[in-house]
Amino acid sequence: MDPRGDPPGQTFARRQPIARRPWPEAQATTDEARQSASSAGNLQRNGEPSMKETSSSLRPCPKCGQLNRIPVRHLADTGRCGACKEAIPPASKPLDADTEFFGALLREAAVPVLVDFWAPWCGPCRMMAPELEKLASARAGKVIVAKVNTDEHPDLAQRFGIEALPTLVMFRGG
Ligand SMILES: [Zn+2]
Repeated sequence: MDPRGDPPGQTFARRQPIARRPWPEAQATTDEARQSASSAGNLQRNGEPSMKETSSSLRPCPKCGQLNRIPVRHLADTGRCGACKEAIPPASKPLDADTEFFGALLREAAVPVLVDFWAPWCGPCRMMAPELEKLASARAGKVIVAKVNTDEHPDLAQRFGIEALPTLVMFRGG
């Protein structure tokens, strides 16, 4: 876990009621990754905590604010703003996935996808949320973090046999 972790970090680790899946190794981030993570952090504070997604993802340009539609297969890439050509960094925060977007992620994502099955009433889910935000930021470009609200999408929970929340599942190559 992150050494800067919040005080509840230890408790969190003990209580975590999930079968542990291998997390992407290493929290060691390069300076470059840190930079993109922190600039993405600024973006997050301006926007909503997470945007509703369809089979593409809307991301604001860090320079001109223009919303750019990022195809799922390019979520982990650095793109260019359609308006001003500024670089748009890879997805660096958890993406809310509905059934359609989830399907597109499994079909088209170019990097592993870590999916958090959660629900608003689930306390441990809320405790885990900041850790997922950190992970999405630290591993931007290498991993896509997606969140499935199992209250809104029980079909997805059922399809993957989710019986306890939160449950993290890593999907690689579909
Ligand atoms: Zn722009």
